[in-house]
Amino acid sequence: MTLESPVERQQIDVDIACVGFGPGMGGFLTHLTRALETEGLLLQVMCYERADDIGFGVSGVVTRGRSIKKTFPEFLPTDIPMGFPVLEERVLYLLDPVGASRRSLSLRILDRVLRLCKGVLPYEEHAVQFPFLPDFMRKHDGFLLSIGQFNQWAGQQIMGSGLAQIWPGMPVAGPLIENQTVTGIRLVDQGLDRDGNREETFMPGMDVRAALTVVGDGPVGAVGQQLDRHFGMPKGHHQHDWAVGMKMVVELPEHCELKPGTVIHTLGFPEPEIFGFLYVYPDRQASLGIFVPSWFKSPVRTSYRYLQHWMMHPYLWRYLNGGKMLSWGAKSLQESGRRGEPFLAGNGYARIGEGSGSTNVLTGSGVDEAWETGTILAEAVIELLKAKEPFTKENLERTYVKKRRASWVEKEGRVAEKARDGFHAGFLRGMMGMGLAGLTGGKLNMPAKVKKTQQHIQSVSDYFRGKIDAAELEKIKTECAAKKLSLHDALMEKCGWPAIPHDGQLLVSHQDALLMGGKVQAPAGYADHVIFRDKALCQCCVEKICIELCSAQAITPSEDEGVPEFDREKCVHCGACLWNCSQETEEGLGNIEFRAGAGGLHSAVN
Ligand SMILES: Cc1cc2nc3c(=O)[nH]c(=O)nc-3n(C[C@H](O)[C@H](O)[C@H](O)COP(=O)(O)OP(=O)(O)OC[C@H]3O[C@@H](n4cnc5c(N)ncnc54)[C@H](O)[C@@H]3O)c2cc1C
Ligand code: SF4
Ligand code: SF4
Repeated sequence: MTLESPVERQQIDVDIACVGFGPGMGGFLTHLTRALETEGLLLQVMCYERADDIGFGVSGVVTRGRSIKKTFPEFLPTDIPMGFPVLEERVLYLLDPVGASRRSLSLRILDRVLRLCKGVLPYEEHAVQFPFLPDFMRKHDGFLLSIGQFNQWAGQQIMGSGLAQIWPGMPVAGPLIENQTVTGIRLVDQGLDRDGNREETFMPGMDVRAALTVVGDGPVGAVGQQLDRHFGMPKGHHQHDWAVGMKMVVELPEHCELKPGTVIHTLGFPEPEIFGFLYVYPDRQASLGIFVPSWFKSPVRTSYRYLQHWMMHPYLWRYLNGGKMLSWGAKSLQESGRRGEPFLAGNGYARIGEGSGSTNVLTGSGVDEAWETGTILAEAVIELLKAKEPFTKENLERTYVKKRRASWVEKEGRVAEKARDGFHAGFLRGMMGMGLAGLTGGKLNMPAKVKKTQQHIQSVSDYFRGKIDAAELEKIKTECAAKKLSLHDALMEKCGWPAIPHDGQLLVSHQDALLMGGKVQAPAGYADHVIFRDKALCQCCVEKICIELCSAQAITPSEDEGVPEFDREKCVHCGACLWNCSQETEEGLGNIEFRAGAGGLHSAVN
């Protein structure tokens, strides 16, 4: 972001400006404020969070919580609403009881063998339970958490210290960069129409100048993205692997036999590539969801419809039937892990959390890793403050980056680095690669060319060849365009997926999920945060994946079938459109720019 702005902006000077309040920032601010108190140091520390409350993120999690337990030695998960220790873990391969999912020949053979041998296998309701869990996947010493509730709990303690302020409802537009130094951040402008034109109520976003800017804005944050564009990525690093996680918190029906502390992970259904999870909290509540990865080839990659089919799998449906949606949402995951690591520090700034490449895709763990990176940075910052040394790239590399390289996050991140490469060449290869990497400490894996999302997505006609004939496909396209509908419902039903029997409480329409589960809102006076960069590219784009994948039906076909329409009031800020566009601009970027925006989910139950 340049500083030659024509408007006069209010400006404040602080010592440390922080972007985003997730587990990464929770770890940083908890340790920083404690150390400030111990050392008798007084700094002005401001943290700006985009969402309207610090608990409005998405992530019901299972975590070993090693770093969280180190920070809070007396920590009992049951002290936090929805927290509970892990008591039982199951991993299941779900067979397809519907006959509509797309399975390779080898997978169909495997399914046939499993069905034939079901008498001697732990087979139940079209699912086979893995007989044992490899160590790298186990979370037996950990706990279940609602990150919404955990963030609120951690945030209250930080604010209670009086040594740092956290401001929700304050999206940060971008970093202020002068002479290759980050000198602070700029908050988003208000009083704009959706195209960014100033209205009478225009109020330019404030510039917050800081000696250190800490960026913990997660996988798709606007500040992290701008830093990556400005400073580039370290040699050999890239962020090609992503997933969108869509989840619900549900009230389980009275007849449900699952005990609190139960963790279920699934693979194989509704499509082999889609992984699922179900974590049982106390009081008949559970968090459940699916992950749709970037290496999924389907051009109709709709998470919502897939989530519903996943819930209705017979193994799960016997637990869920009669349940009620309490909360719903979606969020992207940066799955490149350590290979997606940007420059961790530079003059005046440092990166923490998932946006800094901390998430471990082998162990399926991101919260504790993010927390740990925050604590490591806090230690480094205190060291520099005590030595009265400035936050230069050199000093931050000598302290923060060095400590991080010596940490368990780094060690385990290296083991996981290539664990999922095999998925780029197929599902079974991917599973074998994960197993190999996990069992050999990362020494072996299944090599494959790691491709960008765009290189995986097939055209509708290629993907459905043999399933839907060309004339029928054209007819569906024309009908959907006339009704301004995405294609996925019609195409999935044509392939044999049954219509969803809406029950008004758990199986509801996508629009109802936005209102009932996400309680989605968008305040007026902000410009659109989803921007179609090159309109001409959209005009000639046939697949329009952005419409099919949108987690909230916020991107819809336009009248002339050209540039899609974006409805800010439905957007859940999952960021999936950022990495799912099927085209590439001349600069090698997807055609959607995902900026900092206000609003989104209004549920802290997640
Ligand atoms: C469905 C789902 C299930 C998951 N399950 C697990 C699990 O079981 N175990 C596990 O360990 N991990 C899990 N994860 C991953 C885990 O949630 C993340 O790794 C973790 O939350 C990362 O923490 P973070 O602090 O780096 O980023 P985030 O939690 O993403 O927090 C970043 C914050 O920055 C804010 N922000 C973004 N941009 C701006 C801006 N411009 N201005 C101001 N604020 C901004 C965001 O609103 C957000 O609150 C799951 C993720 C998903 C989506
Ligand atoms: S944003 Fe990407 S996928 Fe969507 S219409 Fe434009 S070019 Fe196509
Ligand atoms: S428009 Fe909003 S809800 Fe839709 S994919 Fe993009 S960020 Fe997610």
